[in-house]
This record gives sequence, C-alpha cells and structure tokens, in this order.
Amino acid sequence: MSKQMEASPETVRLSLDEVRTLAREVLAGYGLSDAHTAAVAETLVAGERDGCTSHGVYRLLVAARSVKTGRVKKDAVPTVSEPAPALVRVDGDGGFAQLAFEMGRPLLIEKARRNGIAALAVNNCVHFAALWPEVEAIASEGLVAFAFTANHAWVAPAGGTRPLLGTNPIAFGWPREGQEPFVFDFATSAVARGEIELHRRTGKAIPETWGIDAEGHPATDAAAVLDGGAMLPFGGHKGSALSLMVELIAGPLIGDLTSRESIAADGGAGGSPLGGELILAIDPAGFLGKSAPENLAKAEAIFEEILGQGARLPSQRRYAARRKSTEEGVAVPKALYDDLVKLRVARTN
Ligand code: NDP
Repeated sequence: MSKQMEASPETVRLSLDEVRTLAREVLAGYGLSDAHTAAVAETLVAGERDGCTSHGVYRLLVAARSVKTGRVKKDAVPTVSEPAPALVRVDGDGGFAQLAFEMGRPLLIEKARRNGIAALAVNNCVHFAALWPEVEAIASEGLVAFAFTANHAWVAPAGGTRPLLGTNPIAFGWPREGQEPFVFDFATSAVARGEIELHRRTGKAIPETWGIDAEGHPATDAAAVLDGGAMLPFGGHKGSALSLMVELIAGPLIGDLTSRESIAADGGAGGSPLGGELILAIDPAGFLGKSAPENLAKAEAIFEEILGQGARLPSQRRYAARRKSTEEGVAVPKALYDDLVKLRVARTN
C-alpha cells in the first residue's frame, strides 16, 4: 500500500505500480501463465487508472472466477496466422483475449500500413474487458480503429420478446497529431447489465426502456428483466441493428460463437463470454497520401467546434482521470481491496 495509505475510511489509496503488483499477484497465484498475467493485469491497471472502475481491479474477481472454474485456459498459447494479405487471425486457444490481441496487433498495424486497411480476428477467447485499450493502442500508431465483440445473449431485438443478442460493444479510435487519440467505446444495450443488477439489489424501479419481462412487456422491475425477461438495446431499432451488426461481424463472419452460443456454452455458470472479436485498422494515408495532414486538420476543427459548444469529447474524462491517477494514484474501495488481498493470500499460502 502506498505511503499515503488510506485515502478515507472507505477507500485505500494505491499507486498504479501497487495496483499492477496486486493484479499480477492475484492472477499468478491462480496459476495463470506469466504472459497472460502481464497482459490481463495491464488492462485492469488501465481501467483503474482511467477511472473506468467497472473494468479496473474489480474485474480481478471476475478473472479469478474464470480461472478457478476452468472456464479459461491458464497457459493458453495463442497462434497468429495470415488468412489473406490484409487479414490476421489469432486463435486464442481458450485463453483470455488480451494476450491474443497483443500478439496480433503488430501484424495488423503492419498490414494496415501496407494495404491501407487490415482486419484482425481474435478467436476462441474469454472476453471480459473494455475495448477502448485496443482501439487506443492502434490509433496511437496513427491509424483509425474499430473493435467489436459479441457477448452473452441477454438482449432482445427491438420489437422482440426474448434474449438473442449480446450487450455487444462498439469501440472507435481516431488518431490526433500531438495528443491522445479520440476514442469512444460503449455497449449497444440501453444500459450495462450490472446497472440493472444494482437496481435489483437496492429494490429500485428501472426505466421502461431498459428491459422487458418474460411476456415481452416493458418492465420497471429489475428482477423481471434479469430472471426470464430480457434487456433492450439503446435507441430502439437503431441500437438493435447496430447490436445485430456486431453479432454478425464478431460471430459468423470470423467463424466464432454468437451470443446465444456463448451463453449456452456457459451453462448457467455465470462466467465471462466466450467467443471472438473483430478489429479493423485503416491508414488515413491509404486514401489521402500526402494530403492526409490537411484532411486530419478538418477533424481537429470538428473536435474544436464540439468543445466550443460546451460539449465534451468521449475519452476526455478518461484522459483527465489518467493524468490525475498517474500523479496521485487511485482510491480503491476498502471492501474491494480487502477481498482482493484475501484472494492473493488464499492462493499464495
Ligand atoms: P457508457 O454508456 O458509460 O459510455 C462510455 C463511452 O461514452 C465512453 O467512451 C465515454 O467517454 C463516453 N461518454 C460518456 N458520457 C459522455 C458524455 N457526456 N459526453 C461524451 N462522451 C461521453 O459505456 P457502457 O456502459 O455501454 O460500456 C462500458 C464498457 O463496458 C465499455 O468499455 C465496453 O467495451 C465494455 N463492455 C464490454 C463487453 C465485453 O463483452 N467485453 C460487453 C459490454 C460492455 P469517457 O470514457 O471519457 O467517459
């Protein structure tokens, strides 16, 4: 624990190095291989660092459960192949997706620079993470990036009555000269499943736009949505179509599981989704050649106009949180910290 020790009675202040050490010790204690431990720990540190706490060290509990229940292969060895000049495939061998992505990324970037566009399919992985670290890493190399992954079938199509689609997130990254990329990343469901679970726990009603009950009627009772009902996509038929697009391009297009197949494979164990991810990279110089800088300047003008109107850019909050936590560390809820220390102790004794 950092010298500053407890930030308040309810939180524990940790430096980012301390977060990293804790994450690595928990994961390694569960027998995860060194390469997977390093890759998974880094995304958890990134989530905590950027104030995305739902994908920070809290996810160690989820990752540890996946390892403990044998849902994820601890020593999976991803293999990289090249199905076509502009395509990369990484078979994750049943392991966590982070290492598979790391192994495919350099070739994806090289192919995007060579061909103007390239795609990476990550297959046969356990995927519990946020997508923004991936599109940010590609956009930081001067490329435009998209990422998509299917999930468990919890969401009904707009106008439908039963779960079929996943929460199916979409992430986008745009390179910016001399500053962090523009990035957004969100699920296509109206709200995260965890948010509905929180309402069930506190007995609070949910808005009718979040889900339907077992008969397909709009529900305000969180339990009716979670037990037998279904979540809904955001934005009616528009979010529903986007979710379906993710389902298609991160499932059948790359030969991997649909959200329905993922939840069937889980068999009620409550584990993380199993399946694939599609990542696209486009080099602006491919279309633009020498005129890339002047065209990218137009993007900057749009960003400035957005800020000038008093709105904020997606990722702006995250980068601000990053600057602060790099200096000051992060405040982890004490109850969570204690649980994580228990996980570490339980496995290292
Ligand atoms: P949110 O609805 O919280 O939206 C997050 C995005 O919107 C961020 O890019 C955020 O930027 C931006 N944003 C939020 N508020 C504003 C605002 N007022 N103005 C401009 N931009 C804004 O995300 P979700 O709950 O839908 O998803 C959270 C995470 O869960 C994602 O990272 C997603 O990848 C992950 N996820 C992963 C799944 C998987 O199977 N692996 C499944 C589903 C979700 P900022 O960060 O700067 O706040």
